[in-house]
Amino acid sequence: MTVTVATLGFPRIGPRRELKHALERYWAGTTAQADLLATAADLRAANWARQQALGADWLPSADFSLYDHVLDTSLMLGAIPDRYAAADGQAGLDTYFAMARGSSRGGDTSCAHGASGTTALEMTKWFDTNYHYMVPELVAGQRLALTSEKIVDAYREAKALGHETRPVLLGPVTWLTLAKGRDVDPFDFLDSVLGIYAAVLGQLAHAGAQWVQIDEPCLVLDLDDRQRAALELAYERLSRGGPKLMLTTYFGPLADNLSLALGLPVAGLHVDLVRGADQLDAVLAAAPADLLLSLGVIDGRNVWRADLPALLDRLEPVAATRDIVLAPSCSLLHVPVDLALDTAIDPEVTQWLAFAVQKIAELATLRQALNDGRDSVADTLAASATAAANRRTAARIHDPAVAARLAATTPAMRDRGASHATRQAAQAVALGLPAFPTTTIGSFPQTAEVRRARADHAAGRIDDAAYAAFLRAETARAVAWQEEAGLDMLVHGEFERNDMVQYFGEQLSGFVFTRAGWVQSYGSRCVRPPILYGDVSRPAPMTVDWWRYAQGLTDRPMKGMLTGPVTILNWSFVRDDQPREDSCRQIALAIRDEVRDLEAAGARAIQIDEAALREGLPLSHRDWQAYLDWAVDCFRLCAAGVGHATQIHTHMCYSEFNAILPSIGAMDADVISIETARSQMELLAAFAGYRYPSAVGPGVYDIHSARVPGVEEMVRLLTLAQAHLSPDQIWVNPDCGLKTRRWAEVRPAIAAMVEAARTLRGRTAKATWQPAETVA
Ligand code: GLN
Ligand code: ZN
Repeated sequence: MTVTVATLGFPRIGPRRELKHALERYWAGTTAQADLLATAADLRAANWARQQALGADWLPSADFSLYDHVLDTSLMLGAIPDRYAAADGQAGLDTYFAMARGSSRGGDTSCAHGASGTTALEMTKWFDTNYHYMVPELVAGQRLALTSEKIVDAYREAKALGHETRPVLLGPVTWLTLAKGRDVDPFDFLDSVLGIYAAVLGQLAHAGAQWVQIDEPCLVLDLDDRQRAALELAYERLSRGGPKLMLTTYFGPLADNLSLALGLPVAGLHVDLVRGADQLDAVLAAAPADLLLSLGVIDGRNVWRADLPALLDRLEPVAATRDIVLAPSCSLLHVPVDLALDTAIDPEVTQWLAFAVQKIAELATLRQALNDGRDSVADTLAASATAAANRRTAARIHDPAVAARLAATTPAMRDRGASHATRQAAQAVALGLPAFPTTTIGSFPQTAEVRRARADHAAGRIDDAAYAAFLRAETARAVAWQEEAGLDMLVHGEFERNDMVQYFGEQLSGFVFTRAGWVQSYGSRCVRPPILYGDVSRPAPMTVDWWRYAQGLTDRPMKGMLTGPVTILNWSFVRDDQPREDSCRQIALAIRDEVRDLEAAGARAIQIDEAALREGLPLSHRDWQAYLDWAVDCFRLCAAGVGHATQIHTHMCYSEFNAILPSIGAMDADVISIETARSQMELLAAFAGYRYPSAVGPGVYDIHSARVPGVEEMVRLLTLAQAHLSPDQIWVNPDCGLKTRRWAEVRPAIAAMVEAARTLRGRTAKATWQPAETVA
């Protein structure tokens, strides 16, 4: 039986973010379209050559995208909302980028609301990854038609370079599942969508393609009857003639959808054996003999080197009975390109890692061991086994003190030990705030000067002392400005922080950071997630000095500002050798120490941001509660070590809480600030319905826009909020941190916000005062 290797997709950004730079030059107008396209073609050619050299038998084509593969699919289908039609008169690059980024026509491109331009498509997370796709938009009566030749062009381009490839298509049912219909059910378009897919498959067959990889990650979700019926209809129709289809599923086990998937008339099926490790036996038992199985055995979502001999133990019996394809669990889009570019990571940790390039080499080793015997790759297998054994025992990873501390946590450590009323009373005395207290979420504009000083410091052009002096001056200026603006609870501004997770990761033990480990987040935006490799502890206080400095400049309460454990976990590459919740509890204990140190230093209010708590929700609803339970437990563990009078704030930058509100309540914060400006306070109904006992700061300033809202608008929003919350429950704050905004916007917006709060205080005061006057 033969074993082959496939890759499912390769990072598009290039080893040195070549695509990012080419895109940004093009958008800035400093290069021509031809230059951008040439860079993209070079990247594709290099990616094919590289994957082939590493040993991939099945090379993907059309996995590349200038911005987003979901957007590419929308363009292929002609799902182009009317507002973009005029951008270049046809579905060219200008239309494409207008859909991706909006078109400003001379305005600020970060402003999606300007009257002078067109808003971008909505963007959201691709399943449970940190990659964002552009949400397809459909309206009633829209006519779809084959509009882009991307797929067949990519196949031909590879062929001209001498590569036989397996083109990658996002499957029709997943595309429809991700689409948003305006007054229409996207699935009403199933028939026309399938017609276009059939045409694309016809083009590919004509061009010579033998196989097509068709991605249907929706198969790992909880499907309804309509989606199931659509899958059956789709593959009945698309498997007639044309290229053979490798139906590709990832990000989880097929679970209840296994028999559905196996019943579809496709020639091959790819299954994720990392997230769905347990499904192999069930798949093997039920898969028809002539179905080509592609086994996703190498983790496409994480950065760990595999234990190859252990994998061979599982794979050898399978390869003895049938042909198999070995692959990463999913596209390699979600991991950095090449570990070899990161020479600065400690060698002990490096030996445990594998990025995209290393993962393909691992697959090639597995193939050779299966086809020619383990002896043919004995050295490589031995090195893999040694690294895996090191990782199981390394002192660097396993810290007995952390384990002991975790084992010794008690229920009391998760409990504030006082009712809301008791805490509120104690905090009112400690803080002395007016009604409708005003505050901000933490960061102030990261200006060009701030970024330059950070870069200068990183490059050694200015020394530690000079950098610290610069940061102190920025902080002092921000504090003085907040007093002048009349804010009630102040923040230090976060000028010293590069990123809200990285800043903490760099000070905690158990994390490493890469220099070149970029992963695409959306479009040209890339991130370098921290790598959590070992037990977490906090060698020293992380924020206390900055807090103390800032509080020393003012008599008003200065909030301590921390990133919460769940958010640190969800935005990092995390350990796969212990449950996520264990890693999260370790982080929680480290943050708990920081919370207590801030309190001991005198902080009367401490904000613990959980910006990414909601996005950690598992793909399948049945797993939600377990996740929420440990996430809440971690938050409580880090927050509950303070006295009654210390006010715990949390912040979440999203507005869909309905399904998780009981868990948000269970976090037991004293104040929560949330994103509501754009949704007109709609979600507050849920808070009211649930009788949320704590205070809420519904964002009244949409910081995602360059627009400066006026006093009246904010008063209107706060009045709406009062329909759901009692006046003494309401805080007044922006939607999120202000780091992406400019001071020229922040100053008037915050001035208006303070004015709005004063207006409300005036009204409420009058309301309570009037009856007394009447009595007199
Ligand atoms: N405190 C952080 C800030 O203000 C919160 C950022 C976030 O929620 N994403 O920037
Ligand atoms: Zn936020």
